[in-house]
Amino acid sequence: MTEIAHYIGGSRVAGTSGRSQPVWNPATGESDKTVALASTAEVGAAVANAREAWPAWAATPPLRRARILDKFKSILWDRGDQLAEAISSEHGKTHDDALGEVTRGLEVVEFAVGIPSHLQGDYSANVGTGVDSFSLRHPLGVVAGITPFNFPAMVPMWMFPVALACGNCFILKPSERDPSASLLIAEWLTEAGLPAGVFNVVQGDKEAVDALLESPDVKAVSFVGSTPIAAYIHKTATANGKRCQALGGAKNHMVVMPDADLDMATSALMGAAYGSAGERCMAVSVAVPVTDAVADALIERLVPKIEALKIGPATDRASEMGPLVTKEHLAKVRGYVDKGEAEGAKIVVDGRKFRQDKQGYENGYYIGGTLIDNVTPDMSIWKDEIFGPVLSVVRRNTYQEAVDLIHAHEYANGTAVFTRDGDVARAFAQDIEVGMVGVNVPIPVPMAFHSFGGWKASIFGDHAMHGMEGVRFYTRIKTTTMRWPTGMRSDPEFSMPTLG
Ligand code: NAD
Repeated sequence: MTEIAHYIGGSRVAGTSGRSQPVWNPATGESDKTVALASTAEVGAAVANAREAWPAWAATPPLRRARILDKFKSILWDRGDQLAEAISSEHGKTHDDALGEVTRGLEVVEFAVGIPSHLQGDYSANVGTGVDSFSLRHPLGVVAGITPFNFPAMVPMWMFPVALACGNCFILKPSERDPSASLLIAEWLTEAGLPAGVFNVVQGDKEAVDALLESPDVKAVSFVGSTPIAAYIHKTATANGKRCQALGGAKNHMVVMPDADLDMATSALMGAAYGSAGERCMAVSVAVPVTDAVADALIERLVPKIEALKIGPATDRASEMGPLVTKEHLAKVRGYVDKGEAEGAKIVVDGRKFRQDKQGYENGYYIGGTLIDNVTPDMSIWKDEIFGPVLSVVRRNTYQEAVDLIHAHEYANGTAVFTRDGDVARAFAQDIEVGMVGVNVPIPVPMAFHSFGGWKASIFGDHAMHGMEGVRFYTRIKTTTMRWPTGMRSDPEFSMPTLG
């Protein structure tokens, strides 16, 4: 058994809490690693180390900070395969999917390399006679990121490249289910020239999270994970006077209009519902065909494709879908299919019947792609986020009924419409109350220079992640008004200054 350590002050640091838990390989159902679980004292040491590193990092010219990130970016390009393999061995996703995640994270690093130009301030000359005024963005200090299992490299990279480029020190608390990616990232940042203490990693569970939320030296908290935990993080962090952006769960609907290109919509649904075994916050988990005729035609096209999905380990490069992340999660997803059946929905393709017969992988956490028809809004399979390869079909008769269905859900992360009608597309993009919208694009994940974030119960806090929202979140504005003596002196002014 090897133990996955913390990373503090520029090197790996073994856990001292005496607490750890196994890290599983979901493809085989075996474990030969554990992860250290930090105590409050260990988190305190990591924060203190970052606090010490911060003044020098904040004073480092933005261009020099950006050059370190640029070097890190080159390392990521060169070693993407290694990072992808580490991700797949603990998460279970296929190699290409893991490589895709690394690339989407790397794009945020590319954005962060250009951040010096976003830190340029605003300057107004002569706001009063002989008086100038300028606004500049300043870093916050030590900030923390708490991340989910489903993107162990990309989600941390939504956060730390922007935070570091803006002059903050960063503490990452990765998911305890797939923690190895965090150590590779930390080591490569050090190799790229990042000073010790500017990026620390504490492995752990609730104890580590609570220690970060309570530490007075942590000025801001970024979180991505499930909605109940996001709500808790936001409430606790803000009660402790911190800035907080907390992104939560999702239930993403894809509306298929009668004039849609059905082959295009089918292929989009296959990737968006079953890619990464549905363990994506932007996965499409509900198809909303408008009219029964569209529903029937869509299902007819989907069934053979779902039945033909190649399900296997990431080490088999032909696999299109991997296992779920843990045995417990597999049981939860299977339980939802059971519930859907009991609630009266029609199981069209039953992933529960799938058996992995590849030698050595029989005990992995696999389930087949599942398609459920006649799902209605009173069923738990519509209300809850299942986070597995389970696509529900909710039939609707009109465009407005489809929109009303989406608006009835508590989550509002992403959504899409498939149509050839520009009027429908425009109305949908304009009116739908969801944070990220696709028109004939099933997973509309914004590029790094835009910002990622949903609405309603999919986000707590005022700022989405990366892009300019990230720059605003990780900086605070200071406005200076400046006058130099001219040799003339005026009498003191007791009325509210108007600078005129
Ligand atoms: P999770 O909420 O279980 O865990 C996320 C993080 O919170 C982990 O680091 C975990 O250690 C920590 N945590 C868990 N329980 C805690 C507690 N009681 N107190 C304090 N900290 C706790 O989420 P997950 O299962 O790792 O990830 C899947 C979820 O993340 C899904 O709901 C998915 O939709 C969501 N997600 C959302 C986005 C988005 O951008 N909105 C992106 C990716 C994932």
